[in-house]
Amino acid sequence: MPAPTRHAALALLLVALPAACAAKPTPTPPAARSFPLGGVTIVALRDALNVVPNDGSVFGKGVDPAAVATVLRAAGAPTDAITLGVDALLVTMPGRIVLIDTGLGPSVSGVLPGSLAAARVAPGAVTDVLITHSHGDHVGGLLTANGALAFPNATIHMSSAEWAFLRAHPGSAKLVAAIAPRLRPFEPGAEVVPGIRSVSLPGHTPGHSGYEIVSQGKRMIDIGDTAHSAIVSLARPDWAIGYDTDAAQGIAQRRAELARLAASGETVFAPHFPFPGVGRIVTAGNGFAWQPGHP
Ligand SMILES: [Zn+2]
Repeated sequence: MPAPTRHAALALLLVALPAACAAKPTPTPPAARSFPLGGVTIVALRDALNVVPNDGSVFGKGVDPAAVATVLRAAGAPTDAITLGVDALLVTMPGRIVLIDTGLGPSVSGVLPGSLAAARVAPGAVTDVLITHSHGDHVGGLLTANGALAFPNATIHMSSAEWAFLRAHPGSAKLVAAIAPRLRPFEPGAEVVPGIRSVSLPGHTPGHSGYEIVSQGKRMIDIGDTAHSAIVSLARPDWAIGYDTDAAQGIAQRRAELARLAASGETVFAPHFPFPGVGRIVTAGNGFAWQPGHP
């Protein structure tokens, strides 16, 4: 039997991970967009685009796709599919370079390494990798094409609940073995690195975590996959998302967190919103809306 190609081997790895959020990753050029937050620098890093059909399987699960189309049309968006970004976030601060999530990885056209290069950061310079959750579009970039650690000098941080969730998935054994020596699990609410606190947001996965970055009185939160579509997930937070492990908990968590963010007005990074995924949540009708941009 011929040896499997590199691509095939990695595709198997990705398929073996817990249900990934990326159904149809689409190639995109690398991109890095930076701005200051207090005394640190934030850089949004592009990895891919993901086109999700409006077929009732993901957005508005159990809802008529015509109702989803009505929401999309009202926002001036195409109604046949929902295009998501797949992005990661870099935080550079004195003495540390922190990467939050790692994209799809080399098997699925992820361009995060190119975006990191555009930000003038070498993989070996990353000191800490913070994982929001263990889906393939967030942990796929932890390993290189040959299975080595993509960020060889980094400590990898993940909530203890998410680490248990990943280890319980038999298909993740290779990834688990590769990252275990570098893995430092944390408990909900922990300050994972100085100035970055974890925010427990279970529902999408059991140990799903956001990260709040605070510097010189300025704050910003990476909400992970609390919301996927900047249109549908905000306008109708009460619609089930096919990607959520626990749909009911996902709905409750999404509505509560979006309400909190709309009240606080703080800057938000959402890895699946249109690049660079930075903006604010505002209330709109019975739901919410996205205001892109940073202060
Ligand atoms: Zn995701």
